[in-house]
Amino acid sequence: MHEDHDHTCIICGNEKQDGIRIVTEFICESCEAEMVNTDVQDAKYPFFIHRLKQIWLQKNA
Ligand SMILES: [Zn+2]
Repeated sequence: MHEDHDHTCIICGNEKQDGIRIVTEFICESCEAEMVNTDVQDAKYPFFIHRLKQIWLQKNA
């Protein structure tokens, strides 16, 4: 299977080739790394959770 087109990252909105898929959404490598390294106390953490919740909501809609 050949799939080399870009995906649009749901966090930063940039088109990247490298990253992970969560359900039907794509998160680029750099955002994934940032998310993994984000502490729960970090101000950015709720933002990531908010974005991820939107994915789950879409999935369950
Ligand atoms: Zn990104």
